[in-house]
Amino acid sequence: MARLYERVALIGLGLIASSMALAMRREGLAGEITGTARSAETRDAARELGLCDRVCDSAAEAVAGADLVVLCVPVGVMGDVAAEIGPHLVQGATLSDVGSVKQAVIDTVAPHLPDHVQFIPGHPLAGTEHSGPRAGFAELFENRWCLLVPQPGNDPAAIERLRAFWEAMGAHVDTMDAAHHDLVLAVTSHAPHLIAYTMVGVADDLRRVTDSEIIKYSAAGFRDFTRIAASDPTMWRDVFLTNRDATLEILGRFTEELFALQRAIRTGDGEHLHAYFTRTRAIRRGIIEAGQDTDAPDFGRMKARK
Ligand code: NAP
Repeated sequence: MARLYERVALIGLGLIASSMALAMRREGLAGEITGTARSAETRDAARELGLCDRVCDSAAEAVAGADLVVLCVPVGVMGDVAAEIGPHLVQGATLSDVGSVKQAVIDTVAPHLPDHVQFIPGHPLAGTEHSGPRAGFAELFENRWCLLVPQPGNDPAAIERLRAFWEAMGAHVDTMDAAHHDLVLAVTSHAPHLIAYTMVGVADDLRRVTDSEIIKYSAAGFRDFTRIAASDPTMWRDVFLTNRDATLEILGRFTEELFALQRAIRTGDGEHLHAYFTRTRAIRRGIIEAGQDTDAPDFGRMKARK
């Protein structure tokens, strides 16, 4: 694959950025990859792993001369990082991000950017419950969606180049507006994470009553919740604080459905329960048919990483 950018700067060197660095290298997409992270520990780990050509001690240094800058930090600090790097972005550079929420990122980042920068927010729908520079792998984006959220006045050529960049790393690319993105992700990712956090919390409370039985006899349902609930606390705190309205809207609907199922159980309405579970089973089939999971009984985890 041909080189798409002369210099790509990654701000934040965790799971997503390290996966991007490895995929970029594999495909030869960048002339040079620079990167930085908040702590010396993470910067040293990135040096040791050889993730970037240059790991810099400041974000300003990392973005100097970069024609693509990607913010790979938690959503809650994107505005601060943009304020730091704004004055150092070169004429015509593209600034993107990988944040899980889009409207809040646009609101906090855009005011710090000079007019000569192409701000094209993005979000790869790919991740694991692991974080940090050692968690990355080059295949993370393969067959996953990356959603781009173009802004008014973007140069179409800059959008196409960023699309080609994500496609070269294995992703399918779609564009949508920020409000729609945030609602879709509240349904598909944010509310499910909150429900998993809650279920594991409830089980943990019970564990104090039943000792270690919950761990010992942990069956697939609970195990799958614990995997989701092991996700990074900082990232997820920021997701809920910044996608508040859409998440609350979906949780309101969830609560209504939960009450309806609760009533069906209490009144012995097996027909309602059976019809409901039949409908949800079809959704799982749809996800498998769309190639977004396998029907392996372990949810495909064995195949997810080599
Ligand atoms: P991660 O593994 O926890 O890495 C976060 C990185 O950001 C670390 O290198 C951290 O540096 C750095 N950082 C934190 N605060 C910073 C600051 N104030 N200034 C500079 N660097 C800072 O996180 P991740 O999973 O890669 O997630 C990064 C972004 O991708 C988030 O916005 C998240 O919403 C989004 N995302 C995540 C997933 C997922 O499943 N994980 C999926 C799609 C999108 P230190 O290590 O030095 O603290």
